[in-house]
Amino acid sequence: MKVHNFSAGPSILPDFTVEKTAEAIKNFAGTTLSLMEVSHRSKEFVAVMDEAIAMFKELLSIPEGYSVLFLGGGASTQFCMIPYNLMAKKSAYLNTGAWANKAQKEAKLFGEVVEVASSKETVYNYIPKGYVVPADADYFHITTNNTIYGTEIKEDMDCDIPLVADMSSDIFSRPIDVSKYALIYGGAQKNLAPAGVTFVIVKNEILGKVDRQIPTMLNYQTHIDGESMFNTPPVVPVFAALQTLKWIKEQGGVSAIQKMNEEKAALLYNEIDSNPMFKGTVINKEDRSLMNICFVMNDEYKELEKDFYEFATSKGMSGIKGHRSVGGFRASTYNALPKASVQALVDCMQEFKSTHVK
Ligand SMILES: *Cc1c(COP(=O)(O)O)cnc(C)c1O
Repeated sequence: MKVHNFSAGPSILPDFTVEKTAEAIKNFAGTTLSLMEVSHRSKEFVAVMDEAIAMFKELLSIPEGYSVLFLGGGASTQFCMIPYNLMAKKSAYLNTGAWANKAQKEAKLFGEVVEVASSKETVYNYIPKGYVVPADADYFHITTNNTIYGTEIKEDMDCDIPLVADMSSDIFSRPIDVSKYALIYGGAQKNLAPAGVTFVIVKNEILGKVDRQIPTMLNYQTHIDGESMFNTPPVVPVFAALQTLKWIKEQGGVSAIQKMNEEKAALLYNEIDSNPMFKGTVINKEDRSLMNICFVMNDEYKELEKDFYEFATSKGMSGIKGHRSVGGFRASTYNALPKASVQALVDCMQEFKSTHVK
């Protein structure tokens, strides 16, 4: 039997995605060739790319005037492409974690960066609120889900300037109002596909407003014009992403996925809050991520942390170690993780309590 995969990324994918991709790696669309050895310009693969873009638009109800791109380079390359393409003089960033911090560091190469608020001093254990976004900045950058620290901005915010969001680890976990954003991006390896493809949803009209020369490959317009085929796209991850999109649709779309995610998260947070051995690391309940659930042992049980880790591992839990900057445990409960896996972890926590708490 497969272990329960709580890995933060690359992470669990639907069985459907893994099976369909494995089949296509052997014989792609009846061509008798492997998906790994066909031209990205073959009619079979062009159909995959077209369908992936169409399903992306359908599942997120993306309005007219936006382009969907599948690129290489990971979310980390977007940290630089965003200011390169969008920042004339000034940008604003909300510093909610290590990725947000890396994104704003890149923007500093291009001009003035205003950090509107930061939760760095308390190891990013909450989402700052009540900050002011400068009206003269070219865009405001947020990270909706902070994969390492387990905080999440779960609602689409109103913003008077173009809003840019890193949704690497919560894309397709809930419905989003794309019209509120100028650009949404992420590495696909958390909730969509194997590593190697980066998705970008960009509002066409925000481009072409900076004077600087942009290297061809780093220019969004290149990839819009080339329909994500200017250079060879990551063929296998794009195929896998399409399978995941089909799976999401089969589940009932993003609203149905959101409901399942809420149930899974409630199950685990309830145990964390009621089990005397554990506590959550994120203080405000409204800031708690539905995707990455971080918890530690309560002070009086601290020395049992390694024991719990070994116990849970022996029961088939995989990938639950917290990030080194937070410690403790992190259970990633992405879309594809079955509720039964969360229940298995909760059972471990209860069994561990019954053997250690008098
Ligand atoms: C994983 C992650 C990244 C980094 O993605 P790469 O594709 O490895 O560059 C960026 N932002 C967030 C929120 C992430 O979870």
